[in-house]
Amino acid sequence: MALISDLYGSMVFNDHVMQERLPSATYKILSQTLKEGKPLDLDEANAVAHAMKEWAIEKGATHYTHWFQPLTGITSEKHDSFINPQDDGRALVSFSGKELIQGEPDASSFPSGGLRSTFEARGYTAWDPTSYAFIKDGVLCIPTAFISYTGEALDKKTPLLRSMDAIAREAKRVLRFFGRDNATICTTVGPEQEYFLIKEEDYANRLDLLMTGRTLFGTSPCKGQELEEHYFGAVRPTVKRFMEELNAELWKLDIPATTEHNEVAPAQHELAPIFMSANAAIDANLLTMELMKKVASRHSMICLHHEKPFEGINGNGKHNNWSISADGQNMLDPGSTPSENLQFLVFLTAVIKAVDEYQGLLRVSVASAGNDHRLGANEAPPAIISVFLGDELESIVRAIIHSDDYINKGASLMDLGVPTLPKFIKDNTDRNRTSPFAFTGNKFEFRMPGGEINLSDANTVLNTIVAKTLADFADAVEDAPDFEKTAKEYMKQVLTDHQRIIFNGDNYCDDWPLEAEKRGLLNYRSTPECLPLIASQESIELFERFGVMSKIELESRMEVYLDQYSMKINIEGLVSSRMVRARYLPAIIEYSSMIAHSIEAKKDVSSALNTRAEEALLNRLTEGINAISDCVDVLDAAVAESAAIAEPQAKATAYLEKVIPAMSELRTHVDEMELLVGHDYWPVPSYNHMLFYT
Ligand code: ADP
Ligand code: MG
Repeated sequence: MALISDLYGSMVFNDHVMQERLPSATYKILSQTLKEGKPLDLDEANAVAHAMKEWAIEKGATHYTHWFQPLTGITSEKHDSFINPQDDGRALVSFSGKELIQGEPDASSFPSGGLRSTFEARGYTAWDPTSYAFIKDGVLCIPTAFISYTGEALDKKTPLLRSMDAIAREAKRVLRFFGRDNATICTTVGPEQEYFLIKEEDYANRLDLLMTGRTLFGTSPCKGQELEEHYFGAVRPTVKRFMEELNAELWKLDIPATTEHNEVAPAQHELAPIFMSANAAIDANLLTMELMKKVASRHSMICLHHEKPFEGINGNGKHNNWSISADGQNMLDPGSTPSENLQFLVFLTAVIKAVDEYQGLLRVSVASAGNDHRLGANEAPPAIISVFLGDELESIVRAIIHSDDYINKGASLMDLGVPTLPKFIKDNTDRNRTSPFAFTGNKFEFRMPGGEINLSDANTVLNTIVAKTLADFADAVEDAPDFEKTAKEYMKQVLTDHQRIIFNGDNYCDDWPLEAEKRGLLNYRSTPECLPLIASQESIELFERFGVMSKIELESRMEVYLDQYSMKINIEGLVSSRMVRARYLPAIIEYSSMIAHSIEAKKDVSSALNTRAEEALLNRLTEGINAISDCVDVLDAAVAESAAIAEPQAKATAYLEKVIPAMSELRTHVDEMELLVGHDYWPVPSYNHMLFYT
């Protein structure tokens, strides 16, 4: 195997390569562009494109593509060859600055929510030089933003970049009060990706997994996650090989995958890379997800990122670790004496205020049909947003609110009671795993995003709401004669006003929703319920003020997401019905008729034979067949009725209120039958089979 140092970043046109290959004047200008967001002129772009092409061809690339993130959330690419055929039969290899900077894919096949009228399908992709170009499968991929002919964002990257700009502007303003001018500000993200690995043959035998990414039927396995033996347990050899190969692929792309371990559920695992700037981290996460699928298939496995592939078992989340850095210094690092660290407290206060004021926008930034199975269902985190600070910070906040002196308890030494083990300093904050928004030492961990989600929306919201509260702070202290005094008074007021959002308890506890309701915190359980918040007055005012999204862009997004929700549930409804009619009902009928024949055969031998048990079983199977058949009729009707609705909100609500309950009622009966029908008759692989393999 190649040395890690040789492998690492070998497929990325990163800073090191640029420095080596670009004329030094061009390199300087490009660095300046990256640092200050200055535009690049065509001459420089031509020089960059040329170097990029030469490098890519040496690495075996034949094509290039503008790589972008339409509102579907996944990435898109259209490959163009570097080759330019000539009249004399030869071919020139070319790639110009213009081709690097701008592309023009047909936008008509991507959701735009009415932004693109049918006669104007044109869309542009624009190079994002802040995320490095890379080679994947012989194609030079250039990360780009995707916008309409009239300049509206048609993708997830554009608003994210605008939001990073907004928070950078406001953080700079705040840092000026601390005597720091012109710091380079960047929001940092480290996403922890959860996933399941199952065998390809099982996947191929389940229409639900194939079509929807999750099982729509299946009884719980005999053993779930109750023994907690899987978490951090030894990784199976097949999975170990997968992880090693995946790491090598990721390292080639400069993606610093570091931790990997089993998760709580059987067959579930997690991968966390080292954090990067938000946009690079999100590009990297999307690539990671793609590579996970690709590498899994080389091992005859399938990688599932869906938020709830298996009912009754932990789903997939994607914890979004987030912070702000200024010239490389972490603004959320409390240092050794947080109570005396005014700059840290100002940023902390801004985050707390932002999360409380814009709970709804944070909630909606992670809303999806898949994630509805996690948030507010039987799994954490809940749909109610609250902030966990930990004991030390919470005491500091209380001290500020009550104008008390904060007494630093200091770090205590842990004695493990065994002389040979080292004594170590106890962390001041215990780990809390149930909070949706937890302070974890020097960053916030937003735990609501789902496994399948593109993190751009969540980070666009986070950056923009914190930009807003940093601006509030800057406005409040701007003309104050005594900065420190005014800052402290401001924090006292803000923390008092927003203390309801702080909750250090157990978020899974049954009392919490009641307590949260008393505090006036929002609790949106479903996607259709919260999607209207995207285009609410509050949202339009906020995003327009910071130049992140316009009213039209927000409205179009709301429409696209409503549509996506309806389409997802529509597919689930159709697949449920198809599986029942084509596979489950025939199987249960066949099994029951085998029992009926057995009873008949026995009676033929002797009417004195007691077939009581078989008759009871036959009876239960027949009842099941009837119930399933009734329920699938109800489901079909609900799907047809919902599909016929035109207005997007009403349509999504119909899918939520009619189709989902019909599917779950149907599932209950099918799952009951799974416990009765003989193994050889059951038409699809069971949970036991899929989740426990060697
Ligand atoms: P957990 O204990 O939640 O499993 P991990 O150690 O697996 O946490 O992951 C923590 C993640 O947080 C890593 O991706 C790490 O790079 C990231 N992280 C650490 N510091 C920062 C920061 N300042 N900004 C953003 N992300 C960070
Ligand atoms: Mg985590």
